[in-house]
Parts: sequence; structure tokens; C-alpha cells
Amino acid sequence: MTGISLVAAALAGALGLALGSFANVLIHRVPQGVSVVSPASACPACGHRIRARHNVPVIGWLWLRGKCADCGAPISGRYPAVELATGLAFAGVTALTGPDWRTAMLLALVYFGIVLSAVDLETRRLPDPLTGAFAVCVAVLAPATCALTGQWDALLRAVIGAAALGALYGLAFVIYPKGMGFGDVKLAPSIGASLAFLGWPLFAVGVFAAFVWGAVAGVIAMRRARRTRGVAVPFGPWMFVGAATGVLIGAPVTQWYLELVMLA
Ligand SMILES: [Zn+2]
Repeated sequence: MTGISLVAAALAGALGLALGSFANVLIHRVPQGVSVVSPASACPACGHRIRARHNVPVIGWLWLRGKCADCGAPISGRYPAVELATGLAFAGVTALTGPDWRTAMLLALVYFGIVLSAVDLETRRLPDPLTGAFAVCVAVLAPATCALTGQWDALLRAVIGAAALGALYGLAFVIYPKGMGFGDVKLAPSIGASLAFLGWPLFAVGVFAAFVWGAVAGVIAMRRARRTRGVAVPFGPWMFVGAATGVLIGAPVTQWYLELVMLA
């Protein structure tokens, strides 16, 4: 790793910690339909405002040993976990990409992946303000990146990817409405756009892997519930885990598959 990419990864990690802190606010407040800007964070037990020095990502929680400074009520370990995960993911993505034209889109995918997955697991919903914000983010990042690189084919891929995955999930929803929620259908175009923007191999493997992971999760959930019907599994997280799978192994898997097909 060069010095520049090391510095970039460290900066991205710091940005991830700060945005991870805001992710906690989004995860906690958006499903309740309350403002994410005001009021300032307060202890849910005693209502005292969280002091600025205790609001420092991860360190604030460690400093307080996971307890409110005013009333001693325990503060969930989920807060520092989300901050740390976002920070590490941002640093990792930036280190792996260099950084280059893919970095910003990958960071958006990671960020909304963390926020939307957490909300879906907790509430079984993908709220419109969050899927909408992700869509706006992708719609801004894709052309902005192409304007910088001059490689407009990535934007064309993004548009086709959005339409294709939106249509696929829309169709799946119409055929089998119990299989997924309409929130998944609204999330699909943004995931399709970002994956296709990054390249067709990532899109192909990412889309396929989501259904594989979702099916595996469904089987495990059914075995745990000792039932074969009526077991609902939130699908949003698997769309993102699938996307991550596509990003990580999409290129080599597609290469291997094409060679296999050509040999046959
Ligand atoms: Zn308190």
C-alpha cells in the first residue's frame, strides 16, 4: 500500500466513524418518524443530553464504560458497534480501491447497507426516507463520478442496472407477494444501479448471491421455528450481503464461469 492510499484509508476511516455515529441516529429515529437533526441525542432512561465529549464515536462509549454519565443506565453496545463497523468498512473499501473511481459508490453502498440492514432486522421495514436517500445518493454519485473520469459507459450501465433489478424485484413481488416486502422492490433499483455502475460481473454475481443468501437464511429460520410456512425473513440485509459478495468475488467468479462455458 502506498503512503497516499494509507492516508486516504485513515481519513475514510475517520469519516466512517463520524458517519457511523449519524447512522445510529438514522437507525433509531427514522422508523419512529422523528427528526434526525433535533433534538440532540439524549439518554433514553433519564433524558439528559449527551455531552459533546461523550459523543465521540466508540471512545465516548468506552470512556463511560457503556453507562449514562448522569443516571448510570446501560447504553447499548450496538452504538459503538455500528460506529466501528462503519469506520472499518470505510477504511477497508478505500484501502482496497486505492482510492479510485469506484470508492465513493462503494462507500455509499456500504453506508446504506449498514443503516438499512439494521433497520430492516429490527423493524422488518425499509422506510421510504432511507431507500429514497440511497437512491438520491446513487443518482448524484454516478453522473458526478463519470463527469470526473469521462467514462460515461458506467452511467449507462447504472441506468440499465437500476431498470433491470427494479423490474426483476417488481416481477417477483407480483408473482409471489409473500416472498418479499414492497420496500425490497423500492430498494432494488439503487442496488442494481450501484452494482452495474461498478461492472457487469459484480452485478451478475451480486444479484444472484442475494437470492442464495436469502434462501439459506430462510431455511435456517424455518428449521429454527420448526415450521415450513409463514416464516418471514427480512430480505433487505441479504440484498446488501449479496451485493458485497458481488463486489468481493464477482470478477473472478464470472471469469471462471465464462471459461467453463467456453470449454464446454
Ligand atoms: Zn441517563
